[in-house]
Amino acid sequence: MKYIFVTGGVVSSLGKGLTSGALGMILERMGLRVSMQKLDPYINVDPGTMSPYQHGEVYVTDDGSEADLDLGHYERFTHARISGDSNYTTGKIYNEVIRKERRGDYLGRTVQVIPHITDEIKRAIRRGASSDVDVALCEIGGTVGDIESLPFLEAIRQFSLDVGRKNCLFVHLTLLPFLRASGELKTKPSQQSVGKLREIGIVPDILICRTEQPMTSEMRDKLSMFCNVERRSVIEERDVDFSIYEVPVNLVREGIDELLVEFLGLKPGTQADFETWYGLLETVRNPDFEVEIGLVGKYIQLDDAYKSHYEALAHAGIAHRTRVRVRKIGADTLEVASDELRGVDGVLVPGGFGERGFEGKIRAVQWAREGRVPYLGVCYGMQAAVVDYARHVAGLPNATTTEFGADVSEPVISLMEEQKRIKDLGGTMRLGAFACRLDPDSRSARAYGASEISERHRHRYEYNNAYRERLEGAGLRSVGINPDLDLVEVVELDDHPFFVGVQYHPEFKSRPLEPHPLFRDFIGAALERRQRRGTPDDRRDASRGDLT
Ligand code: GLN
Repeated sequence: MKYIFVTGGVVSSLGKGLTSGALGMILERMGLRVSMQKLDPYINVDPGTMSPYQHGEVYVTDDGSEADLDLGHYERFTHARISGDSNYTTGKIYNEVIRKERRGDYLGRTVQVIPHITDEIKRAIRRGASSDVDVALCEIGGTVGDIESLPFLEAIRQFSLDVGRKNCLFVHLTLLPFLRASGELKTKPSQQSVGKLREIGIVPDILICRTEQPMTSEMRDKLSMFCNVERRSVIEERDVDFSIYEVPVNLVREGIDELLVEFLGLKPGTQADFETWYGLLETVRNPDFEVEIGLVGKYIQLDDAYKSHYEALAHAGIAHRTRVRVRKIGADTLEVASDELRGVDGVLVPGGFGERGFEGKIRAVQWAREGRVPYLGVCYGMQAAVVDYARHVAGLPNATTTEFGADVSEPVISLMEEQKRIKDLGGTMRLGAFACRLDPDSRSARAYGASEISERHRHRYEYNNAYRERLEGAGLRSVGINPDLDLVEVVELDDHPFFVGVQYHPEFKSRPLEPHPLFRDFIGAALERRQRRGTPDDRRDASRGDLT
């Protein structure tokens, strides 16, 4: 087993997750099997209790862990098996050590960062590296030089001693800032961050340099000499023009595949097969069509907050050779839906929590439902669809969710019995993969091409079965049911071009070359609508009339 450790220097948000995912993809396309793992130095046990403003989207794994969104990059770029062992934080490590200490496992010894915390980190790395893979990739979150990263860096240094230095590859991702005033890239911050790594005893084998400008030959010489990295191992990772999907091929163009071949002892000349990927890049660069989707959410200022949704939309677009533009609409300020959504080809309401913005989401659903605009509601977006239907079609004007207080007269969305006893917020939602049985005569079953599916959940509230008959009688079909708990997971309208609400999170399972079937058909319906209405130019000509 070989290990690749990815660290980051100079600043955060360098795209370490994406670069790690890209490395995983390159290895898989060389015919190897990989595992992927992220170690996060923050103290929260997991990001589940963090605001999207702090941490972006909370990713959910099949086994029900709430995890860092970089795991989403890993799943989208590789076939690595992702689970709770794929993400460890300082909090999770300390939790384990403290539990053992209370149990008396340390037999009277003083419990210390070295060796007890570092040993626990090493155990976590071993757990993350599944035994059936050739290469285990492990990304260390945070920035080298941070106090909280130290135990993780110490642990990977020790780890390389334990398994043999030649079995470990240290990749350091760094930034070359461009100074406009002098018109040059600067290497000093990179030198310093590599210096910090070397203080701990880690000498990087590969330096990947994020830069907005091309590196000069002298620059490579300088980085090589000052950072003690072979010249050919100084890799440029230039900002991409079109899409993040260019990152893996750009790294290969820079020769990283040869370095990996050497490290892994593969047959010289082994190449990564990017044929299918080039096809995808071509579509991304030159799509035939375009649609615009209105995404109505609370955290639209922050791209990371709905990361997997934006990705799933892009993947679905690729399947239709279509560029998907997203009009981001603030749910909490949405008053008149027809103003803010006018002209969009589809409406997506993603997941969310709390009262703020919920009424805006309901207005968006109502507008899409009445205007026959394709609608996809995910989790809270499904719950909003149920509330809209109850209020405006099924004759329950006071319908709402009990999320805002238990004392409501028409709780069409309510808390499950098991949830009522729960006090802690962390890790206590309905989490992870659950089975769902689809009515074969439904749009969803046709999209999936199956009637038994499994999808990931992250929510506390549910469609209230006490209202099922009433809502179904009024026309809101419950076409997806959890067979064990008899919970409604999918609702649909028949007399509509595309109206689907799902209690689960399909966005987590979409891949660039394997779009999620519901997103794919949602974009398909949006494209049909766009084509029926003509091109944007035709529309402008006709814009005197109301086309929405
Ligand atoms: N707030 C809702 C619930 O807890 C929806 C959650 C979500 O959209 N992820 O049920």
